[in-house]
Amino acid sequence: MQAEWHKLKNADTVTADGKHIELAANIGTPKDLEGVIANGAEAVGLYRTEFLYMDSSDFPTEDEQFDAYKAVLEGMEGKPVVVRTMDIGGDKELPYLELPKEMNPFLGYRAIRICLAEPEMFRTQLRALLRASVYGKLRIMFPMISTLNEFRAAKAMLDEEKANLLADGVEVADDIQVGIMIEIPAAAVLAHQFAKEVDFFSIGTNDLIQYTMAADRMNQQVSYLYQPYNPAILTLIKHVIDASHAEGKWTGMCGEMAGDQTAVPLLVGLGLDEFSMSASSVLKTRSLMKRLDSKEMEKLADKAINECTTVEEVIALVEEMKAKL
Ligand code: PEP
Ligand code: MG
Repeated sequence: MQAEWHKLKNADTVTADGKHIELAANIGTPKDLEGVIANGAEAVGLYRTEFLYMDSSDFPTEDEQFDAYKAVLEGMEGKPVVVRTMDIGGDKELPYLELPKEMNPFLGYRAIRICLAEPEMFRTQLRALLRASVYGKLRIMFPMISTLNEFRAAKAMLDEEKANLLADGVEVADDIQVGIMIEIPAAAVLAHQFAKEVDFFSIGTNDLIQYTMAADRMNQQVSYLYQPYNPAILTLIKHVIDASHAEGKWTGMCGEMAGDQTAVPLLVGLGLDEFSMSASSVLKTRSLMKRLDSKEMEKLADKAINECTTVEEVIALVEEMKAKL
């Protein structure tokens, strides 16, 4: 099987009926590029930049960040790289940033909420990204967006930093897509409004599932509620994808669900444009996608959403289809 998958390293990701899908990988540091390239991923769909902050004893400087972003963009040789601005908080702490002790850290001061409250820290990261943008195909993504006002505030800072750099004679790419993670149900529900203003969505199912099911992703006792195939989750995902397409935009997914071999056929059926996963899952996913007919998967996803009432029914539906491949 491994050898079979390996033959697909340089192949395009196309379904049996010829639909191209972007198959990307998640990284935490520039060193992870090795695995991305070895497994033939077509893009980096999520660069979790918080590791740059967590691996440092103080805030990384603009130049340190610039070096890391440039290395990743150059390493991908013009293939897309989605860089997520820092997502500290929740379960991720920084020794040099005093965060309030909270009853519910996952519902608290985290990610874009910290960035908007600490503009100097955020603007340093944005400048580093903008300066690095000329070394490849950069896409910038804001995490944990709940409201359009948060997106607008973050985007306004980005635009200001870009204008400042250009005024100083610094080169900045003029084709940087700017998107958001969809990981908070409020943003998923209003995706049709967000889609008018962002360039893309990437669905963060790790958080979207915990917030939709009200089940802490770290708590074993409620892990039975962590249900990627729950028709409620599939319905939200469908709404997000349809909303982006209605505005001519694209939707990816960078949560664990994107590499889940039971979820993949459903997500192909829902029209997901980009799948980003751990590099080690890329080749087996490409192999599976090559055997799926996107029109048949549309029917499968439709059944899962409209006829299934439980996760078990959805799994049985997918298993039955896979047995016939
Ligand atoms: C997610 O929430 O699905 C995601 C990709 O972000 P993280 O796991 O880093 O919170
Ligand atoms: Mg998340």
